[in-house]
Amino acid sequence: MNYDVKGNLRQVLGNLPTGVQLVAISKYHPSEYVVAAYDEGQRVFGESHEQELSRKYQELPKDIRWHFIGHLQTNKVKYIAPYISMIEAVDSLKLLREIDKHAARNGRVIDVLLELHIAEEETKYGLRRDDLFDLLDGGEWRSMSHVRICGLMMMASNVDDESQICSEFDLAAAIFDEVKAKYFADAPWFRERSWGMSHDYLLAVAHGSTMVRVGTAIFGPRI
Ligand SMILES: *Cc1c(COP(=O)(O)O)cnc(C)c1O
Repeated sequence: MNYDVKGNLRQVLGNLPTGVQLVAISKYHPSEYVVAAYDEGQRVFGESHEQELSRKYQELPKDIRWHFIGHLQTNKVKYIAPYISMIEAVDSLKLLREIDKHAARNGRVIDVLLELHIAEEETKYGLRRDDLFDLLDGGEWRSMSHVRICGLMMMASNVDDESQICSEFDLAAAIFDEVKAKYFADAPWFRERSWGMSHDYLLAVAHGSTMVRVGTAIFGPRI
C-alpha cells in the first residue's frame, strides 16, 4: 500500500466538526485499503459501481455501512437492495419507485438522498431545482413506505474559484431549507446535506454540509 490510509483518515476526521459524517469513497481502490480504514474505526464507505460494490460487500466485514454514490441504473437496484445502507444520488421518480419496490421485496426501508444539480457542467446527473420540486409536488413518494428520503446530495462545479464553489453550496443549503420547510418539516430524518469531496470538503462543512464524501485525500489517486 503506497498510501498512509490510516494517517490520512485521521487527518480528515480531525478536520471535521462533530456532527459531520465521513463517507470514505473507496471506488477503484482495493479491498485492503478499505480494511486499513476499517481497522482505524471507519465504518461508512461509498462506491459508485454496482459490480465493484457487490464484490467488496462479499469480501469485507458485514458491519460496514455502504453508500451508493454514483448514477444508479434502475436494473441494478435489485443487486444492492438487500444490503445497501444509503443510496445517495436518486435523480428520478423512476429510480425512487424501483428502490421502493426492491426494498419492499427485501423487507427493508432504504435511506436515500435526492441529488440536486447545481454545478455548471452539463454532464453531471441530478435534479435541477424545478425538477426536484416537481418530483416532490407530485406526491407519489409519500406512498412509498420502503424508502426514506433523508436529505439532499450535490456536487459543486469542478473549478478553482472558491467563491463559486461556496455560492453553489450556499444555494444547495437554501434549497435544502426550502424543501425541509415545505415537505419534511415533521420528518426529523430529513437532515442530511451531502456535499464536499477531497478538494472542497473544508469549504463544504463551512457551508452547511452534514456528510462529506472523501476518496483521494484518504486513499490516494485512483488507478
Ligand atoms: C468519486 C466521488 C467522490 C470522491 O471524490 P474525491 O475527489 O476522490 O474525494 C465523491 N462523490 C462522488 C459522487 C464521487 O463520484
